[in-house]
Amino acid sequence: MKCGTCCHEIEFKKRIPLYPEEADKLIEIAKERGIAFKIVEDLVFPDVLNKKILVVTYKIRLDNETHGCPFYDPEKGCTVHEVKPLACKAYPLALKQVDAFNFQISIDPLCNFVDGNYDLIKEADFAKIIEIFRNEYPNAQEHLKKNKNLMLKIKELEYEKKIKISREISLEEFNKYLKEWDREEITTE
Ligand code: SF4
Repeated sequence: MKCGTCCHEIEFKKRIPLYPEEADKLIEIAKERGIAFKIVEDLVFPDVLNKKILVVTYKIRLDNETHGCPFYDPEKGCTVHEVKPLACKAYPLALKQVDAFNFQISIDPLCNFVDGNYDLIKEADFAKIIEIFRNEYPNAQEHLKKNKNLMLKIKELEYEKKIKISREISLEEFNKYLKEWDREEITTE
């Protein structure tokens, strides 16, 4: 619909996850264009063996005034269309975390198209959903595959006893680790 809603915060809920290599690319472009672009950590795991925070994804810090992505232009839409993150290409299909290491593809109800076609989407079977989101579904699959590979990499590192992810951690401890520990990005590249 090119409404730009998905490039903005909606009901304080919108987040645009980025893999580290996507974040690097956007930081580089922002530097070239002189755009104020900031990212914050999104999906992280505490590695209690090495006392490190493993970063799987970041998220775009939305502009304080427009509450939108700094790459969004009201006239032109996305100004990084060629290199925009997988999460943007897949939208309104998004990855929903079902437990610590598992995600599934879901449909974001905050999307204007989804909201306006709610009955059609609600009644649709899987084949119909794929047809409706034929442009987005392959990107959502790629997004999910990448995510699965990253989760697999974390599990392999654990199996090899190179890291240890705490399964039982209090919020207080987690916040302490976030403040004190170094970061390490987890990538498949
Ligand atoms: S990168 Fe482009 S598509 Fe993604 S949120 Fe920003 S402006 Fe929107």
